[in-house]
This record gives sequence, C-alpha cells and structure tokens, in this order.
Amino acid sequence: MTLRLGIAGLAGRMGRLLVAEAERAEAVLIGGVLRPGSSAAGLEGVPVFADLAALAAASDAVVDFTHASAVRGHAAVLRETACAWILGTTGLSAADEQAVAWAAERISVVYAANFSPGVNLVLALAERMAASLPAESYDAEIIEMHHRQKVDAPSGTALALGRRVASGRGTALDAVMQSGRDGHTGPRETGAIGFSAIRGGQVVGEHRLLFAAASEQIELVHRSFDRRVYAAGALRAAHWAHGRPPGLYSMTDVLGM
Ligand code: NAD
Repeated sequence: MTLRLGIAGLAGRMGRLLVAEAERAEAVLIGGVLRPGSSAAGLEGVPVFADLAALAAASDAVVDFTHASAVRGHAAVLRETACAWILGTTGLSAADEQAVAWAAERISVVYAANFSPGVNLVLALAERMAASLPAESYDAEIIEMHHRQKVDAPSGTALALGRRVASGRGTALDAVMQSGRDGHTGPRETGAIGFSAIRGGQVVGEHRLLFAAASEQIELVHRSFDRRVYAAGALRAAHWAHGRPPGLYSMTDVLGM
C-alpha cells in the first residue's frame, strides 16, 4: 500500500536521506517541516508545510529525526491527529519519553533509538547473553563511536543496549549505569554496566558490547557504514505503523522479533 509520508527535520542529515529513500520505499512524499532558519538548499520540489499539524493532516505517517527539545511539542501536536509517528530522535529525557507514551494513547508510535535491523538483532542477543552470563563474573561494558557532529552521549543505541543488558540481569539500567569514568574512580563495582563514548571523524555508528570475565571475554560488535540503513528501517516502520491501533511500538515489533 502506498504511504503518504511527512518528514519532520526535513533539512537534517536523516531528513534528506528520507527524501531520497521515499520512492524506493513505495511512499508518496507529502512534504516536511523545517526549523525556522534551516536551509532548504537541495530540497527544491519538496513541499514545505507551515507547521507539523498541517503536515500530519496530509500524511499517513510522520517520520521525525530532529532534536530532543522538539519531542514534547511534537507529541502534543501529533496526539490530536490520525497520523502515525515514527520517532528516531535520541537523547530524550524521562519526561520526553512520558510525552511519547502519552501520545501513543491516541496514535500509533514507533520509537526506536536505532532503526537498523542488524542493531535490533544485536539488542535481542545482548539481553540473552546478559541473562546467561552472571553479573558477578562478567563485567558488561558498552563502547560506542560516532561522528564529531553528534550532540548526545552515550548514544541512544548504547543506552538501549544497556537497558537490554540490565533487563537480562533482572535489574534497571539506572541502578547500575556507570558512565564516563575519570579520575580516582575506585575499583569497578560488581554488576555495573559501563559506558564509554568516542567522538571523531565521520563514523556513522559503531557499538561494542563487551562481557569481560577473568578467563574469557565475549564481544558483540555492530558497525553502520551508511545512514541509509536507518532511513530504510524508519520507512519500513512507517508502513507497518500506518493503520495500526494506538500504542507505543518498538523496532522489535516492526521486525516481528
Ligand atoms: P541533524 O542535526 O542533521 O538534523 C536535525 C534536524 O532537526 C535539523 O534539520 C534541525 O534543523 C532540526 N531541528 C533541530 N531542533 C529542532 C527543533 N527543536 N524543532 C524542530 N526541528 C529541529 O541530525 P541527524 O543526524 O539528522 O539526526 C537527528 C536525530 O536523529 C538525532 O537525535 C540523532 O541522534 C537521531 N538519529 C537516530 C537514528 C535512529 O536510527 N533512531 C539514526 C540516525 C540519527
């Protein structure tokens, strides 16, 4: 079924990729919204709507890769529409995530820190590994690297990995997260889930989950070479979400994993 697609954050890196991928994904590009002051260079021919409400009224799904500061406003607008919301923005606070859940009471929302099918498989494997490898003996560390423009750390995907490891161990990430060690930190706490973030160059996304024990080490590594994998995954989610009952869905639901 052809999908009427709207894009929030049209002029961003992901917004522009969605424009390029829309046709391949059997979507009709309705247009997008731009933050005031953004350059629309290279987007000639793509309709720009005055606001998100107008875009959503004309679309079956709005794909949103913008900024965490926009999420609560977008939730309030989209909740009042019949449009699915495909949210890829990362760096959301607990209050932002509550707003997403609140919108999902009325519309179908797919919220994923990473739309790559490969990453979602890694997330599922991470949880299984964590459930099998005792926290007392296997220290879990998550190391991520991204391009120098990235504004949030650890990455949304790293946090998602951490949540799955915590869940596999029957705990909550907040209770065991240890991020950005510096100075006299003392010895590593048993059961902690450590995070390290590296920024540099144009690395699209690299995530490494390490379980380190005294006698062995197991690593799960995922590398993204091209952002198109996220755009294609988000468009797959948009098709999947269109016409679904209201609810907060994940990429795991979309992929049927
Ligand atoms: P970008 O900076 O290139 O683009 C962001 C766009 O959002 C820009 O056009 C900007 O003008 C707009 N914007 C910023 N603040 C806004 C606001 N308050 N209201 C409306 N629009 C606003 O960034 P990007 O690389 O396209 O990434 C965007 C977001 O998507 C980031 O949070 C990034 O981490 C995330 N991301 C997620 C995935 C995933 O698979 N879930 C993949 C890539 C990027």
